[in-house]
Amino acid sequence: MSDHHGEDGLAHDPHNAPLSGPALRVKALESLLLEKGLVDARTLDEIVDTYEHKVGPRNGARVVARAWTDAEYKKRLLADATAAIAEFGYIERWAEDMVAVENSPTVRNMVVCTLCSCYPWPVLGLPPSWYKSDAYRARAVLDPRGVLKEFGETVPDDVEVRVWDSTAELRYLVLPERPAGTEGWSEEQLAAIVTRDSMVGVSRVNLPAGMRP
Ligand code: FE
Repeated sequence: MSDHHGEDGLAHDPHNAPLSGPALRVKALESLLLEKGLVDARTLDEIVDTYEHKVGPRNGARVVARAWTDAEYKKRLLADATAAIAEFGYIERWAEDMVAVENSPTVRNMVVCTLCSCYPWPVLGLPPSWYKSDAYRARAVLDPRGVLKEFGETVPDDVEVRVWDSTAELRYLVLPERPAGTEGWSEEQLAAIVTRDSMVGVSRVNLPAGMRP
């Protein structure tokens, strides 16, 4: 297996630090699959491109912004998120069902996968490393308020925190609260302020600095 300018066409700088264990294993598997002709380099590039550019939190942000501006869409989203998200046509088909859970002044929702790292990738892309960490997976359930505090969110005692455990079949998207001061904003303007963390439920959506009341 060549580590420099392999079949994948990528230049691997020999001066770079050695690859980590998992990266090395991925590289080894990729080389093997290419060598055996089981996948071709272009297909792999397309998959990587999909994850890097086509699926990501911007997709989810558009779903949230539409739900904020279109009451009928919001109803559909909360009733059948899989179908409502499919209206955007991000992914032709995917195996998991989606459920959207709505935050309110009295309820905060937070998503975790206690078993591994199930994540609503068609709407949020690849999970951040903290989402996959043992600490988050264990503590999100045992001490959700404590975890939220570490994300800078102090949740008052009279606000209920609901934790949703994702599975291979079911993935959750948090519909955060629309921030005050965004009345009259367009769907595009709203989508621009919706963050990944707000859709996992560990943060609220804030107005950009300088626009806060
Ligand atoms: Fe999982």
